[in-house]
Amino acid sequence: MLLHARFVERPLILLSNDDGHFSRGIQAMRAALSKIGDVVIAAPETEQSAASHALSLHKPLRLRRVEEGVFAIDGTPADSVYVALHADNRVLPRRPDLVVSGLNHGMNLGQDVFYSGTVAAAREGALRGLPAIAASVNLKADFAAAAEVCAGLALKILARPIQDAVLVNVNIPREWPNGIRATKLGSRHYEEVLDFRKDPRGREYLWIGGPGVRHEPDLGSDTDAYDQGAISLTSLVLDLTSSAHSTLLKELST
Ligand code: MN
Repeated sequence: MLLHARFVERPLILLSNDDGHFSRGIQAMRAALSKIGDVVIAAPETEQSAASHALSLHKPLRLRRVEEGVFAIDGTPADSVYVALHADNRVLPRRPDLVVSGLNHGMNLGQDVFYSGTVAAAREGALRGLPAIAASVNLKADFAAAAEVCAGLALKILARPIQDAVLVNVNIPREWPNGIRATKLGSRHYEEVLDFRKDPRGREYLWIGGPGVRHEPDLGSDTDAYDQGAISLTSLVLDLTSSAHSTLLKELST
């Protein structure tokens, strides 16, 4: 595929995630994206899964250069992208052409997008007006092959003549005999659990969240695509305004 004429040099891709800069998923993605552009990683120092879009406004952060083109930030996924985009040229030589987040270790389907640090890192790029891809993969999938699919999607997004803040959530099942399809968000139901325990000093502590998750069949959804062995592409909005309950809002307005 030919890139648009604006690319006099290789595209610059900012790569982040929520599993940490060292994770298997981000390394697979770095290898695949490096074939289509210059890749700079700015990602959390430690795992930040389910950190959503938190920003560390109340603690100092450290930006650590791990190696050429790899930076670790001891904050959240959104911090990482924020820092990379605003650090003048400490991290990036110029404004990137694309932000990619992933490969996340595990799926981000349905309402997961509200909790996902992977999606948030991509969304932080989209909020700055950049095209962005969040990509998540089944732990038993071939990570290299999954990353190659994402690089192909990235190339197509970079090739568009107009670069707007498209935000695409990609989910890659263990195998994808049924290809790649456009989807809407499905609905995932997690086991809602509080597990109260006692520490060695007799004080109570607790874990939130159960291990179980299920979803119902839902035509056209990312969860259906997952069940059917297809890669799902869901476009996410940045404007969360709903037209539902407009009558109620009118009644509440004075
Ligand atoms: Mn994660």
